[in-house]
Amino acid sequence: MLTFRRVTMLFFITLLSLNLWNIFFGNSTVNLFHAHALLFYALLFILYFGISFVMAFLPCTNFHHRVICHGITDEKLVAITFDDGPDPEKTPVVLDILDMYHVKATFFCIGKNIADHEQLIKRMHEEGHLIGNHSFSHSKWFDLFSSRVMQAEMLKTDQLIKKITGKSPLFFRPPFGVVNPMVSKALKNMHWQPVCWNIRSFDTLGNDPKKIMNRILKQLKPGSVILLHDFTPFTQLHLGELISGIQDAGFRIVPLDKMLNMPAYA
Ligand SMILES: [Zn+2]
Repeated sequence: MLTFRRVTMLFFITLLSLNLWNIFFGNSTVNLFHAHALLFYALLFILYFGISFVMAFLPCTNFHHRVICHGITDEKLVAITFDDGPDPEKTPVVLDILDMYHVKATFFCIGKNIADHEQLIKRMHEEGHLIGNHSFSHSKWFDLFSSRVMQAEMLKTDQLIKKITGKSPLFFRPPFGVVNPMVSKALKNMHWQPVCWNIRSFDTLGNDPKKIMNRILKQLKPGSVILLHDFTPFTQLHLGELISGIQDAGFRIVPLDKMLNMPAYA
């Protein structure tokens, strides 16, 4: 399996080999490497950093860190996850729809949103939904933060959730689904299990709701994890229809811990 550690090892071995080659054969006038040394080094660096950068946007490859993107089951179970809440106007609508359909979901909440809307976290918890950590700031610069700053954000959000529910979340969803070396370092030796998804609805892009619905329903498989957001028009207006579509296809919607067979809280 291609991992950051292996690619880094390969990078340094290649770098060392190039240096040794340069030292021992560098003076040869017919040496192709000597003539194009800078080009070789540049290509090596571009390849290494290019692979690391691209793979950060593909968390399900487990390149930088082991990330769960779906459940392993033969049963027709799927989990619906909502990111970026809570929102004082939009989240209650989502909770009402879930209640109407007797469906339990997972909410990956942003710490700074929790601070002013604790009652929504309380309601989620009391109604049997799971709450996961989705950083404190969800800053657009989050992926450039140091691992220490990231970890501080995650702990702050944990504390807020624990203050309301009495439990510390174990599921963490990286902002923007990016898992780079700093995120991986922040997660290392800590209690969080990063969870992404294998069905991306693209509900934030404001597409035609029919297209979003079809995109989700077409990809349903046992163990699917669906990514939605509390605040999007699709979630607000078509969540009920989506739940019916999933159930009509023979799938049961369960909270993430049931599908992954893992505890949601410490
Ligand atoms: Zn998010």
